[in-house]
Amino acid sequence: MVDVKLENIVKTFGETVALKGINLHIKAGELFTLLGPSGCGKSTTLRIIAGLDFPDSGTIYFGDEEVTYLHSSKRGAVLVFQNYALWPHMTVFDNVAYGLKLKKLPKEEIRKKVEWALDLVKLRGFEDRYPTQLSGGQQQRVAIARALVVEPKVLLLDEPLSNLDAKLRLEMRSEIRRIQRELGITVIYVTHDQEEAMAISDRIAVMNVGTVEQVGTPREIYESPRTEFVASFMGKTNVIPARVVERDGNKVTVEFEGIRLDGLHYTEKSDDVVIVIRPERIKLKPVENAVSFTGTVDLVEYYGFFIEVVGLFGETRIIARTISDRDIGGLRPTQPVTFYVNRDDIIVLPKQQL
Ligand code: ATP
Repeated sequence: MVDVKLENIVKTFGETVALKGINLHIKAGELFTLLGPSGCGKSTTLRIIAGLDFPDSGTIYFGDEEVTYLHSSKRGAVLVFQNYALWPHMTVFDNVAYGLKLKKLPKEEIRKKVEWALDLVKLRGFEDRYPTQLSGGQQQRVAIARALVVEPKVLLLDEPLSNLDAKLRLEMRSEIRRIQRELGITVIYVTHDQEEAMAISDRIAVMNVGTVEQVGTPREIYESPRTEFVASFMGKTNVIPARVVERDGNKVTVEFEGIRLDGLHYTEKSDDVVIVIRPERIKLKPVENAVSFTGTVDLVEYYGFFIEVVGLFGETRIIARTISDRDIGGLRPTQPVTFYVNRDDIIVLPKQQL
């Protein structure tokens, strides 16, 4: 188990600055996720950690050892690719054994290690099959077994579930988590799917055009986003442009669509702000320490275990989510509706150039 440190990693491809000075500290034994939209630099970061690519500047440490320019085969990080990259002409056994054969280990030891790895991914009995005789999920397991059999210090997974159907994705997600916990191995995981990141990670780094915007536990990232980008990337949420119109110490009054919300916490300089409110924090009945705003019902959407009421406030649509049918009453489009939100559930952030 090692921790991985990235200090000021810069990487350019011609004119494109893919990484603009990345700093990360991934703790030993944690499952750490790089999350962000396409092109933000996740794969580049992973390839640099794997040693498949090198930064223009900056330093990488595995534990106390600097590995920035160390050859990939010497640093003990193994990358599992999105498309698994199994050798089609080799059996499952030979695919998994490959790295051990390169190391010229005795045959009996290779057999034992391959059995151990196939046990771990629950694929014993599949030794003689070829990749084409396996399902997508099974191929994924072989790729993971092949990576783990060489006992890497760090396992790197690049969008490992993106080629699987929705049901298998959920299953493999728990499998990866189980294996990671069982081995206590450091895993760095890349995805653009915020729900997947929330479910699987100990901590998440949210990336945006070559920078890390926030690092934290899934709960911290979801409940206390520090930037507009992080707030809007983490699932369906209300991000409402507004202006600070009054300040009193660290409390402000903000205005949007002629609606004033007072007593909100905000200490930044910019008066150009967004108000972030998670739909599930909006209530249709008065609550403690609440601000309220009245508009009209635009839509009522039934999702089964919850219902969403979309309210229209001037031009601004705001979504409230509730699990109880009774809260909705007989709400119909065009009727007036009042939303209530506890002030502690409202986050005011500076408006960002996105
Ligand atoms: P995705 O989720 O689509 O894989 P990503 O977040 O992994 O995206 P990267 O693949 O790391 O993003 O790419 C970051 C930026 O660097 C992008 O603008 C991309 O076009 C650019 N880039 C990456 N690799 C190369 C390359 N070999 N040559 C030129 N530009 C590249």
